[in-house]
Amino acid sequence: MSESKNNTVLVTGGAGYIGAHACKALQQVGYVPVTFDNLSTGHAEAVKFGPLFKGDLTDRSSIDAAFQEHRPHAVLHFAALSQVGESVTDPGRYWRENVGGALNLIEATVAAGVMNFVFSSTCATYGDQDGVVLTEDTDQRPMNAYGGSKLAIEQMLADFVPKGLEAVIFRYFNVAGADPDADVGEDHDPETHLIPLVIDAIAGRRGPLTIFGTDYDTPDGTCIRDYVHVSDLADAHVKGLEWLTAGKGSRTFCLGTGTGFSVREVIDAAKAVTNAEVPHSEGARRAGDAARLVCGSERAKTELGWTPTRSDMVTMLRDAHRWHEKGSF
Ligand code: UDP
Repeated sequence: MSESKNNTVLVTGGAGYIGAHACKALQQVGYVPVTFDNLSTGHAEAVKFGPLFKGDLTDRSSIDAAFQEHRPHAVLHFAALSQVGESVTDPGRYWRENVGGALNLIEATVAAGVMNFVFSSTCATYGDQDGVVLTEDTDQRPMNAYGGSKLAIEQMLADFVPKGLEAVIFRYFNVAGADPDADVGEDHDPETHLIPLVIDAIAGRRGPLTIFGTDYDTPDGTCIRDYVHVSDLADAHVKGLEWLTAGKGSRTFCLGTGTGFSVREVIDAAKAVTNAEVPHSEGARRAGDAARLVCGSERAKTELGWTPTRSDMVTMLRDAHRWHEKGSF
């Protein structure tokens, strides 16, 4: 497909887990996703659905050069440091790279006259709010620098609306699974996320899983999360882009299923799906973890027309398992 002004979008972090799946979804409906990535955690081999521009968000001139070369009409901003634990031990890096990088990107976007911006935010902006089903209107009280940096970027975007910028903000819950064709999938180093660690523990690719905390105030004592399939999330981004290009304006959407799974429930489901034991032990709590993060996605469903189709635990585990068995891009 040829690249033209009307269908080109700049995807920061397009070489990463969620960004690569979004690039596939975008390409499938006729966009040209230009990946902007420093490849610090992303993979050049994951950039299969459009061109790669190697650049760094902390270097404004490289962002300007990407706009010059590709002339996108919208920006999807995925690139970020995203490990809760690391953000507790090295908060400065999160503020410098996530917030500083986003400021460079937003200023470059506005300077290029591009006014449609889709931003990957997180349920970690809410902090720990026991028993609450989180919605777009719930107070945000982040409890670590990862959540804090994402909330700061949400606020930054609001400050650029008077300059003409329109932003769709997606607050993701726990992203899981992989492309059903296994073209792309999750490949973090180090891997810190529950589902790939469960699958690797089953396969013996690494040691037993440690359950981080069994004394939370939840029915089985382990943390509860709302898991969403990465391909459903990618579809939401296409809808978010269409929302903006239709002139519907800035809006925030939570993306989850409203159903929470505890760590023990994920382990049990993985055992059922793979017909294999999950070697694991019980350990201490991990710093920065909230007991329960579950969201209501009514707004995304009713306003955006987003319907998750693969976000049941069995499908997420099957797709993740298929990808991890394939083992490479
Ligand atoms: N978790 C765990 N052991 C691990 C990794 C994660 O018990 O080795 C737990 C973690 O404490 C959290 C849940 O699994 O309650 C999901 O963690 P993950 O890192 O996948 O996502 P997060 O919720 O931090 O975004």
